Amino acid sequence: MYLKSLEISGFKSFAKKSDLFFTTPITSIVGPNGSGKSNVAEAFRFVLGEQSLKSMRGKKGEDMIWNGNNDVARSNRASVKIVFDNSRRFLNLDFDEVSVERTVFRDGVNEYSINGTRVRLKDVLELLATAHVGSSGHHIISQGEADRILNSNVKERKAMIEDALGLKIYQYKMEESERKLAKTEENIKSVESLRREILPHIKFLKKQVEKIEKALEMKASLGELYKTYLRDENLYIHTAKEKLATEKAPIEKRLKELEHDLAEAKSILEKSKNHDQKSDHIIALEGKIRAVRDQKDEIFRDLGRTEGSIASEERIIKKERELMQTLELNVSIRDVEGLAAEIDQNIALAEKETALDGLRKIIGNVRSLITNFVSRHRQKTAGQNIVDSEKTLADFKAKKVDLDGRLATVKTEEEKLSKEYADLRTEIDAEKDTNRAAEKKLFEVMTAQNAVIAERNIIRAREESLRIEEEGYKREIGEAAALIGREVLDFQKPQNAGNENAVISENSVAVDNAPADRPTQHDRRREIEKIKIRLEESGVGASDETMKEFREVSERDTFLVHELEDLEKSAESLRALIKDFGQKISTEFATGLEKINKQFGEFFGLMFGGGEAKLILIKEKKRRAAPADADLDLVAGMAASMGETEDEEVEEGVDISVNLPRKKVKGLMMLSGGERALTSIALIFAMSQVKPPPFIILDETDAALDEANSKKYGDMIENLAKYSQLILITHNRETMARAGVLYGVTMLSGVSKLLSIQFDEAVQVAK
Ligand code: ATP
Repeated sequence: MYLKSLEISGFKSFAKKSDLFFTTPITSIVGPNGSGKSNVAEAFRFVLGEQSLKSMRGKKGEDMIWNGNNDVARSNRASVKIVFDNSRRFLNLDFDEVSVERTVFRDGVNEYSINGTRVRLKDVLELLATAHVGSSGHHIISQGEADRILNSNVKERKAMIEDALGLKIYQYKMEESERKLAKTEENIKSVESLRREILPHIKFLKKQVEKIEKALEMKASLGELYKTYLRDENLYIHTAKEKLATEKAPIEKRLKELEHDLAEAKSILEKSKNHDQKSDHIIALEGKIRAVRDQKDEIFRDLGRTEGSIASEERIIKKERELMQTLELNVSIRDVEGLAAEIDQNIALAEKETALDGLRKIIGNVRSLITNFVSRHRQKTAGQNIVDSEKTLADFKAKKVDLDGRLATVKTEEEKLSKEYADLRTEIDAEKDTNRAAEKKLFEVMTAQNAVIAERNIIRAREESLRIEEEGYKREIGEAAALIGREVLDFQKPQNAGNENAVISENSVAVDNAPADRPTQHDRRREIEKIKIRLEESGVGASDETMKEFREVSERDTFLVHELEDLEKSAESLRALIKDFGQKISTEFATGLEKINKQFGEFFGLMFGGGEAKLILIKEKKRRAAPADADLDLVAGMAASMGETEDEEVEEGVDISVNLPRKKVKGLMMLSGGERALTSIALIFAMSQVKPPPFIILDETDAALDEANSKKYGDMIENLAKYSQLILITHNRETMARAGVLYGVTMLSGVSKLLSIQFDEAVQVAK
């Protein structure tokens, strides 16, 4: 026996606390009409979590609470507590005794507790469902409700049988899984929409990162190229400098010697007794030639520098121009809209135009609109650098023209002096005068000097061009360090480790370190320029930030993908679970139905002395409600493909077939009141016997039975009590006789009162 006691307090007519103890398999509750017996049955429903107030004859929560009379004030709350013997652990709780209590307050608030601990309604329902106990289930048959199972439609009847077969727990679980599935699907949708939201950003960042990676690759190869280029350039400059110094030293030495010789010759001439006009002329001429040569030297040097500057400016301008070709136009949206409006106007005209010539003209207009737009903005974008460089270039070119002019003048002067000098020399040579030996010497020295100076000029020109190359090299070092980082200058380290500023030592310019030839270096330089331009084109900036953001957004997306996978997996297992529950319900239902039918047939035969009765599982095609939106057409289409028509769906239900003995009565509609009562009792008892609930409450189920049938009913009750505890509300003597404990309910001034009574008293009370 599982049911121990029921405590009713402030519930309906039970103004005061009343207790019922269920110590025997059958307990009967008897009492006159209106005394409150049915209220006891409803107290059971109430405490087991019934949510339908109608089934407890109320409209609102307040109707469950003692309403008060002249003697006893109304209650603020109604509470019912049921106590189970759980020593066999039929309830899934590790306590020998389990109490469930429900209280309702006047404001309609309900409170539930299990063993005194506040819980949710859900917890109560789940606990009871596992033990095959339910609030409104098959095991509480209210007054006049015995034939509810006959009156209900096929679908409701099926639900009642599922309930009686203890399938409700699977229904609960299935519904819960369906709820979870719906929630999971909702989550899947929101995760998908989150992914959709961040997708364009990821795509954008990915492109940026690809650009950055490309730029980094370019930088890496630029770095490598720079290292070899700069290393070789450094070697070349040092080698070339050394070579020039070696070549220059004897020339300078020779020049000094000649200077000395010249000074000597000049001094002899000046001191000579035969100092004459020619000697003066020679000395003056020598001074003039020297001055002109110095001037020419100076101009040459200046010219070299100017030409170097011109070449450098031209290089800058070329580079800027190349950049400009690839430059992105920065155009304001207003300008673009303006262009779009103008093109639109032309398109509108073209749409109306029928003549081919007219169309051609419009196309021409559009083309020139676009061309003008681009060139206008290209000019705007053209850097100030070009303008500045062009101005500087023009200045240098003007200077070069001036220098060229001056050089020509100096050269003419030099030629004139040279001619004068040659003539004088011929004259002196012709005189064969020994006095002229010093003069001759002077001529010789000057001639020699002329040749050595020419050699020195060549060296100087080479020095100048080397200087320009060195300047370029230094500029390149600066650029390389800025672009790649200082590590690009590591080529300088091996020989001078630890001293970053030191350039390669003279000794290090060894033969095995010979630099690449100039054409190779020029090719490298060109390649470097190309990569630099491409790097600038890529326009990648703030790469660390972008990489970081891409990493973060990608990580978030990966997280979402995992979450989506998890959600899909749990949706999948929920679907499988729902399917399992569905299958379990349908197989258990089929076997349960078979067993019920066997009992039903037997009880029916017992009650009616023969005949047949059985439950039949039917499938009904029902018209589907019109779809609320177009999406549902798809669902309908899918259903149709599975053998259902567009607006029909299959519903299962349970029909009852009865065949009374010796009567041609078939079908429920034709049964008498008593016959209906007998049929429903047979069915209720059959259902209870197949899957016996811990207790059954029958409120005047026997009301319509005659004496003979009351006896059969009593026999059946005794049989049923072997499986389930019974609480029978009855006026029937026969039924009372089968009870182990009898409770009488009396009503005094509207207040119900319970008392334990003897059978004789019960018969008396029931009257
Ligand atoms: P019968 O044998 O005729 O079926 P019964 O013994 O089953 O009668 P119930 O229907 O249980 O009687 O009791 C009904 C009584 O309970 C009525 O008198 C009704 O006024 C009383 N009642 C119902 N709700 C309340 C309430 N909230 N406060 C006070 N009394 C109530």
